[in-house]
Amino acid sequence: MSKHSVVVIGGGAAGMAAAIAAARTGAKVLIAEKSNRLGKKILATGNGRCNLSNMSIGSNDAENSALFDQNAHHSQHAQHAHSTQHSQHTHSTQHTQHTQHTHNTQNAYNAYHNNEFAASTLKRYRCTAIREFFAGLGLLTTTDERGWVFPSSKWANSVLDVLVAEVRRLDIKCLFEADIRSIEIRKAGGYGLVFGAGSILHADTLIIATGTSNITNKLAGFTHEKIQPILAPLVVEPTEKASLNSLDGVRCVCAATLYRTTPKKAQAAELESLEQNQLEQEYPPAFSPLASERGEVLFRPYGVSGIAIFNLSRHAQKGDTLVLDLLAEQSLYDLEHFFAQRLEAHGTLPVEQLLTGTVHTRLAAAVLKKAGLKPTQPATTENIPTLAANLKTFTLPLTGETKEEQAQVMRGGLAVEGFNPDTLCSRAYSGIFAAGEALDVDGPCGGYNLHWAWASGLVAGEQAAHFALQ
Ligand SMILES: Cc1cc2nc3c(=O)[nH]c(=O)nc-3n(C[C@H](O)[C@H](O)[C@H](O)COP(=O)(O)OP(=O)(O)OC[C@H]3O[C@@H](n4cnc5c(N)ncnc54)[C@H](O)[C@@H]3O)c2cc1C
Repeated sequence: MSKHSVVVIGGGAAGMAAAIAAARTGAKVLIAEKSNRLGKKILATGNGRCNLSNMSIGSNDAENSALFDQNAHHSQHAQHAHSTQHSQHTHSTQHTQHTQHTHNTQNAYNAYHNNEFAASTLKRYRCTAIREFFAGLGLLTTTDERGWVFPSSKWANSVLDVLVAEVRRLDIKCLFEADIRSIEIRKAGGYGLVFGAGSILHADTLIIATGTSNITNKLAGFTHEKIQPILAPLVVEPTEKASLNSLDGVRCVCAATLYRTTPKKAQAAELESLEQNQLEQEYPPAFSPLASERGEVLFRPYGVSGIAIFNLSRHAQKGDTLVLDLLAEQSLYDLEHFFAQRLEAHGTLPVEQLLTGTVHTRLAAAVLKKAGLKPTQPATTENIPTLAANLKTFTLPLTGETKEEQAQVMRGGLAVEGFNPDTLCSRAYSGIFAAGEALDVDGPCGGYNLHWAWASGLVAGEQAAHFALQ
């Protein structure tokens, strides 16, 4: 390869953005892509509509930082709201506030995993800059009421088409079915890209944009974070299998909250030496909320799915508990009052009839089972609180074993500490840059991940070209 060339490994979202930026900066560019075409995954994004960015990314940095503070406040608030639900009647307005905060916290740079590393790139390419980049390629974009950005065509092919057209216009070479297995350091200088078939391509400047596949394991200067599925369904303990099978396909708009049962009690013996106040600091209350989301939840035989659940999956681990508030718009007090009024109006009625008209019939049956109530047993003023509490806290223990193929994004890959956040160049190897999902950065649903892919691709492409041309 010529001294002024940049080789981009991987022709996905990040790789194409990187190649375009490098070529525009003046470098000769080659994309080495494992499959037989560019940007295949883009076609599947956003259910075929490609949610390519989010208006909140950099729209107002001061506001974003204020929202970061709200996030911290929210955690305490959610905890308080939960505990009061059990002990006393929670007023409905309190609950609405709780869910609004949760939604807003998605609107900041801090929505990203490794946000401090990502901030420099995201400030350089805010949402408006990414929309301008696409407008320059001829793509019109639109936003929905949540601020999620899509192509105006609402067709992912439009996004891929304009990128491929620009790759061609800039005369970027594409090497397809180029499965690069590893990178070697050449004694003569530069790097050797080792193909599956054994052949080697020499390059002085390269950009790793391979998504989650690891081609740097032979290079001692990189640290690799464990790859794990993120933005995926949550898998529920097999003990719940019977009720989940009966719920398969049921959808419900819920407030979903993730709790971690801390080892406070289990480890108390080991921690006897610690003073009580130290213990409280090390281990928060035994049932503390980690994160909360509101949205449609889809029940599946293995667990639960949906955007709210995908976002919670970014925080979940084995042993966590998911609590669904199946009637989030009603406070516990309002719900008990509603049931009491119905009971009073009817004199007597089976407990299952109290739930008719509140949630899906199959969900109602599962709630009754969890509450230990027989559907046909008579409703009483004594069992109303149990029923209402089970509707407000439908509890599912999680295994933490989400499958990779069910995930939209994988967390892990190249540890960000090994890269300069301003240039995305390796700290250990000059001339090696990285972009997109290859780096250990990920965001929630809403266009955050593709935004990172474009933005980091553009930064890595520009910087790699400057390096190659110097
Ligand atoms: C079903 C689905 C829906 C999604 N929807 C959205 C959405 O609406 N909005 C959003 O923001 N995000 C969405 N995402 C996430 C988003 O698609 C990714 O974050 C993004 O594609 C990452 O881009 P990337 O270029 O880093 O990696 P990839 O898109 O994975 O591209 C990597 C490329 O490198 C190639 N490659 C891999 N290994 C090698 C190798 N050894 N040699 C050569 N080439 C190699 C691959 O073939 C691929 O073309 C979705 C993901 C999925 C799976």
